Amino acid sequence: MRQAKARVLVLGGTSEARSLAARLAADRGFDATISLAGRTKAPLEQSLPVRIGGFGGVDGLTRYLVEERIDKVVDATHPFAARMSAHAAQACAAQGVPLICLSRAPWRRVDGDCWIEVENNAAAVAAIGARPRRIFLTTGRLGLADFKGAPQHFYLVRTIDAPATGDLPPCHELILARGPFTLELEIALMRQARIDLVVSKNSGGDSTYAKIAAARQLKIDVVMIAPPRRETMRIVHGVEETMAFLAGSPRI
Ligand code: NAP
Repeated sequence: MRQAKARVLVLGGTSEARSLAARLAADRGFDATISLAGRTKAPLEQSLPVRIGGFGGVDGLTRYLVEERIDKVVDATHPFAARMSAHAAQACAAQGVPLICLSRAPWRRVDGDCWIEVENNAAAVAAIGARPRRIFLTTGRLGLADFKGAPQHFYLVRTIDAPATGDLPPCHELILARGPFTLELEIALMRQARIDLVVSKNSGGDSTYAKIAAARQLKIDVVMIAPPRRETMRIVHGVEETMAFLAGSPRI
């Protein structure tokens, strides 16, 4: 008798989720779907069937798990997508569905880094200080409005999709671009804009690390926002570890 394929839900929105999707698509043992929040206008292509949009909170996700008969869930959302992760932890616990978190390790400070580590955007704004500065602001489209509270600075803002104009601080220049970025280009960009401070989330991974290496090389301070704590139990950093979890017996 042929064994039923394990039904897997991958919560995506990251390059790790995309790599896992490609790996799952090539494995006949799984019937997997990837879920995206629908934030980016032109999401990258995925190797798995995609569903787009919020589930409707914990209740909505719980319903989805039941209706779609999901056997296992991989939370491969961005390290800063704390709400989705918390919902996944709650819905999976309620239904007894095994959950694993595939997450990149945060960046670690190395020799030459001048980091000011903070907990959130509000603390980042406070850490920038009162003296007007020229800031490379790379924290993403959401939460930009927090920096309107410090209008004395110039902000070079880089996002994937255009932010709402009302969210931008008064003195800014906007660049729309999606990583990966190279060290050479980041150095050139920061030099040209006479940047003297970088504000970044500690997102981990390779694709946006060049700005951190560039800041080190140029001896520029970085206000580094720490990722929120995850409620999730089991965290792995690699696709193969995730596959091992998925290949284990159901409900482990
Ligand atoms: P969030 O604050 O944790 O989530 C807000 C709401 O968006 C969730 O409650 C959920 O809506 C919906 N949602 C989030 N991820 C989803 C997914 N993969 N599939 C379906 N619905 C999802 O998340 P966020 O920070 O807004 O990030 C949104 C997405 O962008 C995430 O998938 C994340 O991986 C990606 N991303 C985030 C960042 C970042 O810096 N935050 C950076 C790069 C990529 P319901 O409650 O209605 O289910």
